[in-house]
Amino acid sequence: MLTSDELRAQYLATGSGEAPRDHERLDLIREVLAGEATWTEPPTHVVGGVLAAVVAGGQADTDRRSPDRPARWPIVAAAVGSAAALLALLVSTLGVLDNGRETLLAMTGTELQVGASGVAAVRPTGSGWWIRLELTGLAPAPEGSYYEGWVWSDDGEGVSIGTFHLRSGDDPVILWSGVDMEDYLHPTYLGRRTVAHNSSFGCPFSCSFCAVVAMTNRRWLAESPARMERVLGRLVRDYCVDAVQMHDMDFFINEARVAEFSGRITPLGVRWWGLGRIDTLMGYSNATWTAMVRSGLKMVFSGAESASDAVLATMNKGGKASARLALDLARRMKSFGVVPEYSFVLGSPPDPAGDMASTFEFIREIKRVNPATEIVLYTYTPVPMDGVLPTR
Ligand code: SF4
Repeated sequence: MLTSDELRAQYLATGSGEAPRDHERLDLIREVLAGEATWTEPPTHVVGGVLAAVVAGGQADTDRRSPDRPARWPIVAAAVGSAAALLALLVSTLGVLDNGRETLLAMTGTELQVGASGVAAVRPTGSGWWIRLELTGLAPAPEGSYYEGWVWSDDGEGVSIGTFHLRSGDDPVILWSGVDMEDYLHPTYLGRRTVAHNSSFGCPFSCSFCAVVAMTNRRWLAESPARMERVLGRLVRDYCVDAVQMHDMDFFINEARVAEFSGRITPLGVRWWGLGRIDTLMGYSNATWTAMVRSGLKMVFSGAESASDAVLATMNKGGKASARLALDLARRMKSFGVVPEYSFVLGSPPDPAGDMASTFEFIREIKRVNPATEIVLYTYTPVPMDGVLPTR
């Protein structure tokens, strides 16, 4: 025996069975979710306009609303996964509060998710609309599926404000909308319309000089190749992006992920850049390198750091890092036509002057092996480590 919520969800997914009281809205949601246009990025002027209307409408409503008057702008969260498993959760706006900095919208669940509630805070910024959702009573979306936030007008116009999954605890959900993408597309050596993207966060290594270690405690969380393909596909399709800089702390940590990503994005015809460790990249198979090149990889940034394996050890570079591998990778990348971008730290202890001289000599050797190699230089700067600073 199905509960009324399950019957409603079934009706929403299939359109068959006994029509619930609110079937008109469910029909509309199903129609929108089934439409191809739903899954494309709306034009930025629509996003900006509708969200501006959210705030303008909400503020106007603050003055006029009686306690039991239905809100004008519901926010809809729909869990989307495989097409057969659509489950929509509707959260209607209850009240609006303008605290001068953010507009707060109190939300409560409809019959579809009676126990759901939350607060949405929206605020215009110089880079679009910032939207924070604090939701309770919504279960995490199953692995491989997501909730999608929507701003929805009474006359049936809906605008997506992004996706979230609630699988990482009860942290607030931060979404952005109304961003003018033209501000973020620039000509670079890679292409005419280059965009930046982060497909992962963190790094499992613990180099002693690296801020990432303290930020992420050697953890690493990555998007799937399928999701990366969807993101890049949308950027190419809707914004005519022709190049991508992968600003991951280390894009190349997982060879299988990179190989699948490369295969998936090859038809998009983008040129791309990423940052990765020398020893990891030397461990990649020729097949993966070929796939990366075919997919548009043009340059890779790597921290070569030093000509001395002993200095690399003091930096706690970890893995199989060695100066010899830096030379080998420069040679290998030349054979694949990918430009290495190597960074070095000059003047490491215990012999700063000697370290600088040997590193410059090493750089000359690298340039002989692969003249296209780009060199980035840093200087060693001691900083206090964790603990108490001595005082006099
Ligand atoms: S491998 Fe790179 S990102 Fe990872 S800890 Fe070392 S320097 Fe930082």
